[in-house]
Amino acid sequence: MINLIKQTKNTSYSAVAHLGIDFFDSGIRNSGISLTESHSRPHILPEICRIYPNIFQTNATNNPSQQFSLVLQRNKPSGRILIDLQERKCFIELLNGPTLEKELLDDETSLVTLFARIINGCSSRNIDSIQIIDTDFLSKNTAFDENKIIELLATTFAECDEYNRSMFVFDMDSLITLSINDSNMSQSTSISNIQLYRNIREKCKQAFVENKPDNCDNNFIAKEKWIVMVVKHPFLRSRLIEDIDFKQSQEQIDEEKERERKERDDETEKICPKCRRGYILSKTNYGNCQYHDGYIYDLQTKKPVSYNEAQALLLKISLLTQRGASNDQHLKLVWTCCFRIFGSDSPCRSGICGLPEELQGTQIKAENEIAEVEKHFKAKIDATNKLKVLHEVCADLFIPQPSYSTNTVFNQRSTPYSPRNS
Ligand SMILES: [Zn+2]
Ligand SMILES: [Zn+2]
Repeated sequence: MINLIKQTKNTSYSAVAHLGIDFFDSGIRNSGISLTESHSRPHILPEICRIYPNIFQTNATNNPSQQFSLVLQRNKPSGRILIDLQERKCFIELLNGPTLEKELLDDETSLVTLFARIINGCSSRNIDSIQIIDTDFLSKNTAFDENKIIELLATTFAECDEYNRSMFVFDMDSLITLSINDSNMSQSTSISNIQLYRNIREKCKQAFVENKPDNCDNNFIAKEKWIVMVVKHPFLRSRLIEDIDFKQSQEQIDEEKERERKERDDETEKICPKCRRGYILSKTNYGNCQYHDGYIYDLQTKKPVSYNEAQALLLKISLLTQRGASNDQHLKLVWTCCFRIFGSDSPCRSGICGLPEELQGTQIKAENEIAEVEKHFKAKIDATNKLKVLHEVCADLFIPQPSYSTNTVFNQRSTPYSPRNS
């Protein structure tokens, strides 16, 4: 498509920076950079200049030449760049550390809109030749079948190899054809023009950036063979990354660790903050979690009771019952969500163990989950009117009592606990 070649190797590439909007007019003839006519698509660069009016400026702060510079100080680039249009990131692979990860700009959505980044990157590295390979490049060279395309690529690769510093930009999604096979059971994706893919893949493995040895003379010209892969389809991206062994960024390494931690976590038994029973997330199913999504209310004291307090009261009643006391005490504790009796009626809700949906994604420490969920269910439900009706209906059942204490006498009518052997 576009073949920018610096004809005089002694001319600084920064000449590009002075071309400005007139790139295609007079500037191009005087620049030392040629736009090979047979490969060019003249409307494209003016379009870039419209989108990025300062594409070739070098003096302003935060200008593209700084933002997109490939001069990376102590970081040693491998010469491979992957631009992921789906994830909206630019990955610059390094030899001496994890890949650098940079966010794409909002308007960088296609190959055309990436030109500011690519051209300024080349400018920063003094690249002699940029070759963009996409379907336009193929059609301008009348390469339509796979063999012809492979032939054209071989010639182009050889031409560019004559330059010390070159960059190839592959528009992967336009070059590689994917076929999606839909069967009843599953969907599988594969590459149709596999020969072409292999050709590009092998080229991607040949990128390198030579470093100037410490004790060499000033005439030493370090060779740089850059490869930029622009890719959008997730299948194509994953396949390419795997095949060429493209290094991960620190962010990707951290994400993978977090994913592994979560997987391990999903295999570990935990206590469900809703039903308070043990569960293993990867093995639990919908319906396994039986719970109430309200709070416990004491009809006698007319106060909410915490789950632990309710359980303690239940235990006390059970002990009293064992010793012959009346066993109707716990009837005063009800769930506000459904007015079922605490400790004896079945839960009103059914679901999957773990945090309620509303709390998923919030940062709650594992040890606080039960308390937080209890608080959440209490705040969620307004049972005032329901409780008022209940009190009216059941008014004659209870004689008001002061709140429970460790020495609570549960009901005036009940037999207070008296140790038999005291
Ligand atoms: Zn309930
Ligand atoms: Zn549960």
